[in-house]
Amino acid sequence: MRYSALRLLREALRGNRGWERAWRDPEPQPEYDIVIIGGGGHGLATAHYLASRYGQARVAVLEKGWIGSGNVGRNTTIIRSNYLLDGNQPFYEFSLRLWEGLEQDLNYNAMVSQRGVLNLCHSDAQRDAFVRRGNAMKLHGADAELLDTEAVRAMYPWLNFDNARFPIRGGLLQRRGGTVRHDAVAWGYARAADSRGVDIIQNCEVTGLRIADGRVTGVDTSRGVIGAGKVGVAVAGNSSRVMAMAGLRLPIESHVLQAFVTEGLKPLIDGVITFGAGHFYVSQSDKGGLVFGGDIDGYNSYAQRGNLPVVEDVVESGMALMPAIGRARLLRMWGGVMDMSMDGSPIIDRTPVDGLYFNGGWCYGGFKATPASGMAFAHLLATDTPHPTAAAYRLDRFRHGRMIDEKGMGAQPNLH
Ligand SMILES: Cc1cc2nc3c(=O)[nH]c(=O)nc-3n(C[C@H](O)[C@H](O)[C@H](O)COP(=O)(O)OP(=O)(O)OC[C@H]3O[C@@H](n4cnc5c(N)ncnc54)[C@H](O)[C@@H]3O)c2cc1C
Repeated sequence: MRYSALRLLREALRGNRGWERAWRDPEPQPEYDIVIIGGGGHGLATAHYLASRYGQARVAVLEKGWIGSGNVGRNTTIIRSNYLLDGNQPFYEFSLRLWEGLEQDLNYNAMVSQRGVLNLCHSDAQRDAFVRRGNAMKLHGADAELLDTEAVRAMYPWLNFDNARFPIRGGLLQRRGGTVRHDAVAWGYARAADSRGVDIIQNCEVTGLRIADGRVTGVDTSRGVIGAGKVGVAVAGNSSRVMAMAGLRLPIESHVLQAFVTEGLKPLIDGVITFGAGHFYVSQSDKGGLVFGGDIDGYNSYAQRGNLPVVEDVVESGMALMPAIGRARLLRMWGGVMDMSMDGSPIIDRTPVDGLYFNGGWCYGGFKATPASGMAFAHLLATDTPHPTAAAYRLDRFRHGRMIDEKGMGAQPNLH
């Protein structure tokens, strides 16, 4: 069923009795050409592009919970391509371009909103770094604008400009950045993949990988054994657990990251703002809630909830940037499990086991990467060669010293 304005009108007149289920609920088949483990944004996007761009029909996505129960439905919804390094910039710009055409491609309203992402700077040195990053972005065809203090004041006059410790000296603005409704991304990809014959199997946990003579032959699941020609793993915060089933140890740690939503307020922030002197990013949802987040909790965990010290830390940053936030009441908060890599950049690669492919290490930043990650992983699974925009995301880069350390933090996952 195609969604359209005409269809809406028709259903409104017929009492909405004609809508079909958005995707099927199939029983697992005994075997598939390609099995994707993980029905998050990346797994579902991979399945969609495998079916729509690479002509692969016998594909299944196995999800241990329900579609959208992982980080794809827990993030703060920010998309952008304001990266500095060669290994990253073209990939994230490719992703932003795919976001721009996503709703037409999926025939689904994912509420892609290019409302602008503004990174604030608070010192001359930070402004210099932003100039460098903005120039790198432009060289790769992305958009970037350097704003002075007055230009920022014109956009957000209520920010704390004259804070004695963190005066606002300007900002780097990417107007094409913005937000996307996160769970609609999961639903949109699921529906589009399903319509091309992909089986999306929820409540199906992978408990083991079947490997014979160095080659993967299938997976053990809570719903029985499923044979597979190839297996792609896209399980975000559970990467280490699943890859351990193949005896592989990853350069990844799992950490908790929290998100916060206030009560609905009148329109205040029409873009995305990030604080440059601490970790704090904020936007306002269409329902009026301020949606914000900050640092990870800082300890290894697989729990999808966080703790109070980080709540205090995030809210302190918010107060330093926009004291008015102190009047807002916090309505909801939750946590997600982040796959933090050693250099803060992702991995999309083959593994030492034939037929087993890995996609992970997305840290805080994997939501914006969803379309490009899906396309690059589909390309790798279908052709056994890396997608040109993801060629740097190799598993062995840590052994060879080819780190992509966007933040310059070194091999400390909790700092990326
Ligand atoms: C609070 C928070 C805020 C964030 N904010 C942003 C942001 O603003 N911008 C941005 O770009 N990124 C952001 N991120 C990061 C982004 O959400 C993630 O990097 C991205 O969603 C990860 O990819 P995914 O969608 O495939 O993961 P997930 O949705 O977590 O998908 C992985 C799936 O694998 C399933 N799974 C795990 N183990 C198994 C198994 N054994 N068998 C079967 N299924 C399994 C899980 O249930 C899960 O559904 C944020 C993350 C969090 C938690």
